[in-house]
Formats: sequence, structure tokens, C-alpha cells
Amino acid sequence: MRTLPPRMSESLYHDDYVPQETLKLRKKFRAFAEKELFPIAYEFGQRRESSDNFPWALFQSMAKKGFFKVPHKKGDGGLGLKYPACAAATLAEELAYISASFSGSVNAHFLLAGISLAQGSSYIKRNYLKPLMECEAIGAFAMTEPQSGSDVRSDSLITKASKTKGGYVVSGQKRYITNAGIADFTATLVDLGGKSCMFVIDMNSKGVSTSEPDKKLGNRGELTYDIYFDKVRVPKENLIGEVGDGLKVCLRALMYGRTGIGAGGVGMAQSAFDESVKYMKERQAFGKPLSQFQHWQFLMAERAVEIENARNLYIKSGRQIDGGNKFPILESSGAKFYGSKISVDMARDAVQIFGGYGLMVELGHDGSTYKVEEIYRDSKVGEIYEGSNEIHKMVIAREIFGKE
Ligand SMILES: Cc1cc2nc3c(=O)[nH]c(=O)nc-3n(C[C@H](O)[C@H](O)[C@H](O)COP(=O)(O)OP(=O)(O)OC[C@H]3O[C@@H](n4cnc5c(N)ncnc54)[C@H](O)[C@@H]3O)c2cc1C
Repeated sequence: MRTLPPRMSESLYHDDYVPQETLKLRKKFRAFAEKELFPIAYEFGQRRESSDNFPWALFQSMAKKGFFKVPHKKGDGGLGLKYPACAAATLAEELAYISASFSGSVNAHFLLAGISLAQGSSYIKRNYLKPLMECEAIGAFAMTEPQSGSDVRSDSLITKASKTKGGYVVSGQKRYITNAGIADFTATLVDLGGKSCMFVIDMNSKGVSTSEPDKKLGNRGELTYDIYFDKVRVPKENLIGEVGDGLKVCLRALMYGRTGIGAGGVGMAQSAFDESVKYMKERQAFGKPLSQFQHWQFLMAERAVEIENARNLYIKSGRQIDGGNKFPILESSGAKFYGSKISVDMARDAVQIFGGYGLMVELGHDGSTYKVEEIYRDSKVGEIYEGSNEIHKMVIAREIFGKE
């Protein structure tokens, strides 16, 4: 039976920098994650991908607690928080501490799809955002295509729209779309004659189909699919913003999403760190615990500072969004790049600290399981999705040196 290690972040640091509102919510998020997610987290992270594995009960429970309303304004049916982006990112950290897979599915639903819809008309908010917050419908966000993920300029997209009476017709294909196979609708980036557009596309529309879920190295509980659009009719009311606004709508959603990926990285890194501290105090080598070898002490000292740095960065990005900055480019790219990097670094160290146990999904001798192998597999995608870390470094470099 797995147990949770002591949270080292609680004893090492003070939270002066985080808004009180966020700290209060963090307690609620943590209670949910520990009580409801933790009991199924191992199975959730190990099972091969299948649409039957979608965690309906947990999504329903989150909706009941109002968690999907966290990023949204009161007028839109949300909680109307003063610091919604800080709270949303903290939720991502708390979920990823227990299960990165689950955090990924939730982020796609309530942040990427949710923030896209929040930029739409009152019709879109009423018919799509409200059911998403109540979990009467599941949302997806479809930007990536088979030939292109980093380059989503309009000309590079193969998902094309044309104008027709009363709306648009869309054909094309999207790849790796989280939740697509079980989603009710997807916020979809398309090209309309050289201009980008974001449409809400009903997944039950004629001409929409999905692949089987992808089988992946990690994040196995986060289900991803191809979506195929074959002459799908989309009513004109389902356009978010104006023709030509597509990339802007995506980018605004990605400001929250990237901050959340950084926070998820912090959650994974903190979990690997805490598992390691506990193990190092117990495991003996050459007559003393691993924790007394200076090599590991120095490494853990560095990681303790880096993880808190990554936490500060995602809060900084959240505070920028909450302060009214719609596109905190440097802060969100920095939070995403650094939080995901630190989770990969810490996961690799944790596997090394655990030695042979670090590789064990399940020990043949007695069926024991070890969380660090899962974090090692799950953390990698953070460096790839929502803009690869190379793209984020490019973005940061542009802020330093200018676009030219
Ligand atoms: C588990 C998972 C879930 C996902 N969920 C979603 C989702 O819900 N919705 C969605 O739209 N997408 C989703 N994605 C897709 C994800 O966002 C893309 O994989 C990501 O943006 C990278 O795109 P790509 O895989 O096409 O890589 P490419 O764009 O082909 O890049 C390949 C490599 O080349 C590098 N590269 C590209 N351009 C440059 C450059 N100019 N300079 C230097 N290096 C460069 C990249 O950094 C990368 O290392 C998901 C992916 C995964 C794995």
C-alpha cells in the first residue's frame, strides 16, 4: 500500500509571495488530490490508454466543488476570484503532485478549452463554457496537426475552413488532442484563406471522427487522439472572436496553459524530491543512510532551491495574468520552460537515488510500487507540449534581443 511522503515544501519555505486567496484554495485542492485522486493514481498512471479509463467520477467531483469555475469571471458563471490564474496554476501543481496524467486531462478541459471559450460571445459562454464548468460536457483544445505542432501559422495548417451559407465548412486533421475521444466539443484552430480562426466544433457533428487513443511512454491517463474533420458544417455562432483572431485566442489560452504546465512540473518535481528525501533517510549504504553522503546532500540542496524558484516563476506568471496582462510572454514561457525542465531533472535524480527500485513499476518479490519511475516517464512531455522548450527559449531570446 502506497503512502504519501512528508511535504518538504511545507517545512522548507514560507509562502509570503503567494496571495492569501490562493493559499486557502491550495488547501482545498490538496485535500481533494490526497483524498480522492491518490487512491486511484497508481492505476491511472500505469494502465494502457483506453477511452474507458477516462476519470468521470473525479471530473464530476471537481465540478461539484466548483474547481472548473476557478479561472472564470462571476458574470460568466465562474468563481470571480481576484487571482484566478494563480489559483488555476496551483490546482495544476496539487494535481500533478499526485498524478501528472490527471493534471494534464484537467488542464486541457478547464484551461485550454475553458479560456478559449471565455473569449467567445455570450452564446458560446452559455452553450459551451457553462456546461464545461458544470462538467455536463468535456472540452478539448485542438491546435496541433500531424505535420506541424510548433509552427501553427495559418499557412502551415492543413485544417481548412471555407465560408458557406450560415457558417463554415471545415476539413482537416488534428493530432495528439487531449480528451478528444470523449470530448463533447473542441476549440479548434483552422485556416480560412490565410487567416486563422478558432471554432468551437461539436464532436457529434456529421463528419467528425477520432482515432483510437495514442499509446505513450508516459502520461498514460491523459488520453490523446487524432481528430478527422470531413466537410464538417460549423454554424457562424461558433466562431470565437473574429476571423483572423485564431492565433490570438489560442495564445491567450496558452498563457494560462503554460503557467499550468510550469506548475505541473513543480508538482512532479516536488513529489520526486519528497519521495527521495524519505528514501534517503531510510536506505543505508556503507553503514550510513544515503542522506549523509555529501554528494546527494549538495544535489538535493540545489534541487530544493530550483523547485522553489520554479514555483515562484509560475506564481509570477499567474500574478501578471491576474493583474491584467493578457500576454505575459516572458513570465509564462519562463514558468513553463523552467518548471518542466526541473521536473525532468529531479525525476532523473530520483530514479538514480532509488537505484534498482527506481526502475520498478512493481517489485516481483512483494508487489511494492515506486512512484519515481512514473514521474520519470510523465515529466518528459512537459518539455514538449504547449510549445516545446526550444520554442520557449526562442520566445525568451526575442524578448532579450528583439525580433530581428
Ligand atoms: C501527451 C500530449 C498531449 C498533447 N495535447 C495536446 C492538445 O490537447 N492540443 C494540442 O493542440 N496539442 C497537443 N499536444 C501537441 C503538442 O503541443 C506538440 O507535440 C508540441 O507543440 C510540439 O509539436 P510537434 O510534436 O509537432 O513537434 P515539432 O513542431 O515537429 O518539433 C520537433 C522538434 O523540433 C524543435 N523545433 C521546432 N521548431 C524549432 C525551431 N524554430 N528552432 C529550434 N527547434 C525547433 C522542437 O522544439 C522539437 O524538439 C500534445 C502532445 C502530447 C505528447
